[in-house]
Amino acid sequence: DYALYYGKDHFRNDVTVFSNQHERELLAEQAIETGLRSAKLADELSLAYQPIADIATGRITAVEALARWRSPALGDVPPGRFISAAERCGIMHALTMMLLGKLLQDSAAIPSEIGVSFNLSAHDLSSHDTVMAIVAAVRASDLDPRRLTFELTETALIRDFELAQRAIKALKDSGAQIALDDFGTGYSSFSYLHQMSFDKIKIDRSFVSKIDTNHGRRIIASIADLCHGLGLVSIVEGIETAEQLAAVKRCGCLFGQGYYIGRPISLYDLQNVIGPQPINAKTGTY
Ligand code: C2E
Ligand code: MG
Ligand code: MG
Ligand code: MG
Repeated sequence: DYALYYGKDHFRNDVTVFSNQHERELLAEQAIETGLRSAKLADELSLAYQPIADIATGRITAVEALARWRSPALGDVPPGRFISAAERCGIMHALTMMLLGKLLQDSAAIPSEIGVSFNLSAHDLSSHDTVMAIVAAVRASDLDPRRLTFELTETALIRDFELAQRAIKALKDSGAQIALDDFGTGYSSFSYLHQMSFDKIKIDRSFVSKIDTNHGRRIIASIADLCHGLGLVSIVEGIETAEQLAAVKRCGCLFGQGYYIGRPISLYDLQNVIGPQPINAKTGTY
């Protein structure tokens, strides 16, 4: 039967294509894990800083620290790839503590009226030791903890709800604030808003990309209303154009972040964006 024969052949082809692609992905993941294990983490990893602006005034009020890895073997590897690899090969604690150390040091060179945000992963939150080490590092540093915000994604919270709640409490006890990152991409957004004590909500960039439609605008305006009604600060991610910025402003959102406002840049370049501030001798190694 020709149809059956064709079907089988077609199926076999699909399997081959899938297994090749799967194999390539596995190899790439292995290369990243191998590279990470042999990396001189402190030398090869750095933080880029992306400005967050007050939408009404355009003033930069905070910066988000974003991890960057320049591997001698693999080149620039995006955090979306190496964070999960670091979790898989058991070095996430070391990586987080190293990056936090850099942030706490770098923040001495960032004007004191500017806030600093740091991303935490699911793995960080699920480890009591990591959370305690983070709190201890913040306490031991010169950074005023009121300047510091920890960004957590919903996926980091759903792994173990009670553990996450305890972690958030410990982080808040250090004096830092908590932002729910990538809001709207998870599954149980509303129950989390209700049960976790967030200070800020970062509205995911997938919403901004649809802000040129009535429907998209109404969704962002409603999320902003919801945030403000709950006493939370709204931050919109992924603003890439002047039109999007204007639309986000009309939706009543308070803060914005995105390539149009500013790309992630080195601490050194940040000095030029946020005004004349002497670079800390310890950190001015860019
Ligand atoms: P995130 O925390 O949501 O960070 C925002 C991401 O969106 C960054 O990607 C940033 O470069 C990108 N972005 C900012 N503005 C725009 C825009 O206008 N358009 C588009 N298309 N993208 C924009 P990046 O640096 O690749 O980081 C990806 C994710 O990796 C972060 O998402 C965060 O979840 C994670 N990550 C980054 N640094 C760290 C870190 O130090 N620790 C942990 N645990 N996770 C990190
Ligand atoms: Mg973030
Ligand atoms: Mg985000
Ligand atoms: Mg995002």
